Amino acid sequence: MARLELRNLHAEVAEGDEKILEGVDLEVESGEIHALMGPNGSGKSTTAKVIAGHPAYEVTEGEVLIHLDANEFGSDVDIDDDQRTWNILELEPNERAALGVFLAFQYPAEIEGVTMTNFLRTALNAKIEEREELFEGADEDDEEAGFESSPMEGPQDDGEVGVAEFQEILAEKMEQLDMDEKFARRYLNAGFSGGEKKQNEVLQAAILEPSVAVLDEIDSGLDIDRLQDVSNGINALRDEQGTGILQITHYQRILDYVEPDHVHVMLDGKIAKSGGPELAEELEDKGYDWVRDEVYGTA
Ligand code: ADP
Ligand code: MG
Ligand code: MG
Repeated sequence: MARLELRNLHAEVAEGDEKILEGVDLEVESGEIHALMGPNGSGKSTTAKVIAGHPAYEVTEGEVLIHLDANEFGSDVDIDDDQRTWNILELEPNERAALGVFLAFQYPAEIEGVTMTNFLRTALNAKIEEREELFEGADEDDEEAGFESSPMEGPQDDGEVGVAEFQEILAEKMEQLDMDEKFARRYLNAGFSGGEKKQNEVLQAAILEPSVAVLDEIDSGLDIDRLQDVSNGINALRDEQGTGILQITHYQRILDYVEPDHVHVMLDGKIAKSGGPELAEELEDKGYDWVRDEVYGTA
């Protein structure tokens, strides 16, 4: 089990003192789907960017913790502790990714001449290498025993996933996500439609197998067919690899396809209300002002 925990998170604009987040508390466990909803400007994207370590924001108070049970360390790590906790605010973005926190926008939007396949293999190997560094010293015996590569055995002894091995992983994931194999041969994001970019995000998450994925407005601008494809992919992340999902969305629509276990409403940089899936439907009927009235007692 893994758990991402935002504890009393306060953040402001780095260049200035405008406060945006004013005490966000939120926990997402692997295997759970949480919807983070709220009106425009309430601080949803800032929450995602702070988790990712975006330099535009300065955390002034609070923590972002990742708790990993021993089984989440991966088969490549054998250490004695039952659980470990990191405050990821102290870590570089790639270290956060190595600990199983996935944020799509940490990847460049477009790089010339790189195929999806190469990009994804590079991202996976970067994660594996970063994990080795993070867990180095956790078990000194690893060195002598020979580091076991993961998730599948390959010919490399340094844990890196080779080309042939990666093709197998990719084929399996693309089948799982019901994606056309032609996709992988295309160049990174070049000429991808909005919907295809969103599908790429889900594919990246499928390859990296994060403990928790933060998806910010992955539903925006999708037609109904693509929304269904992307939603099926998100459900597969949870069902096939136990990824916890923090689904940030302004609209209720995607929640018809990706049913959340928990729904949170953000207002003015705080979680103002939490509930089950019925809360999303209430929001669709009544809008966000109703929550504001309930929380602040004013119209
Ligand atoms: P949401 O995603 O819920 O629409 P955001 O997190 O994008 O909201 O923004 C929350 C508030 O913080 C908004 O008022 C926005 O204008 C402000 N804000 C966000 N990022 C910046 C920034 N880099 N500089 C100045 N203001 C910002
Ligand atoms: Mg500042
Ligand atoms: Mg936003």
